[in-house]
Amino acid sequence: IDWTADRGWHDARLQPYGPLTMDPASAVLHYGQEVFEGLKAFRHADGSIWTFRPEQNAARLQGSARRLALPELSTTDFLESLRVLVSADAAWVPSGAERSLYLRPFIIANETFIGVRPARVAAYYAIASPAGPYFEEGVKPVSIWVSTEFSRAGRGGTGAAKSGGNYASSLLPQNEAQSNGCAQVLFADAETGTRIDEVGSMNIFFLTRENVLVTPPASGSILEGITRDSVIQIARDRGLRVDERDVLIAELCDGMTSGEITEVFATGTAGVITPIAQLKSREGAWGSADAAVGDVTRELRDELTGIQRGHRADRHGWMWRLDE
Ligand code: PMP
Repeated sequence: IDWTADRGWHDARLQPYGPLTMDPASAVLHYGQEVFEGLKAFRHADGSIWTFRPEQNAARLQGSARRLALPELSTTDFLESLRVLVSADAAWVPSGAERSLYLRPFIIANETFIGVRPARVAAYYAIASPAGPYFEEGVKPVSIWVSTEFSRAGRGGTGAAKSGGNYASSLLPQNEAQSNGCAQVLFADAETGTRIDEVGSMNIFFLTRENVLVTPPASGSILEGITRDSVIQIARDRGLRVDERDVLIAELCDGMTSGEITEVFATGTAGVITPIAQLKSREGAWGSADAAVGDVTRELRDELTGIQRGHRADRHGWMWRLDE
């Protein structure tokens, strides 16, 4: 769908997948004026195709667009674009556990203008790609690298927006994580460098010995995950206390060593709920890389994937049909 400042959104169309033609002076290529979303289409046992809480992705894309001075796409147009895309690509929606069609909606500024100001021309696209299992051999706990040198988002920055620049700045620490045998980076807050914010592309939770589920608050510097919000609701439905509060890196590390913290996991659309067995940093390692998946982590994961796959009750009305 095209957008210009004078006409607004127009010319919605479905076209075959292929390269975009873009002027080399297009704003997005120089100033990163871009926002995106990520969600999945699931095939249920009866063949029908569904997605999970897409109106939340629509709202988040609108918030991200506001922050990046891009035009906002209405929730109706966003949902319709997914229906049209997935209907055309229905044959690509795989069935089977852990498989899905990944959907990537995004908005780019593509005015041909080299000065620094919000573009007056933009475009919205949605593309799709089949996604295999995140865990090839069943759910397995990962190790996470605590980045002490780099942060992801500062106060007043774009941390709460899903914008390419946030990910560009996370690639170097991500390299460091991988060369230390870790799956992702745990970022600390930019102000003090002592509190946990989030993992590279996931939010983080832990369970205390007193059975309280703890996660950092939506402070403006983390991306507020839709999986995060869903896990909070499912945990509360199951009678768990959930505390959204500041957490010091030291509290997490010490708790993993002392046993005060019994389970740690990360949440996101791609991995749903990913158990974390170990934290590592330049200063040391905490927890144990071969720890088993915790019971609460597994129960929450089974419940959430069960709702998404259509074999657990969708009590909150989270599932959205895409193929009718
Ligand atoms: N934080 C970051 C930085 C992310 O990229 C993602 C993935 N979108 C998340 C958290 C989790 O968000 P969601 O649960 O909506 O996928």
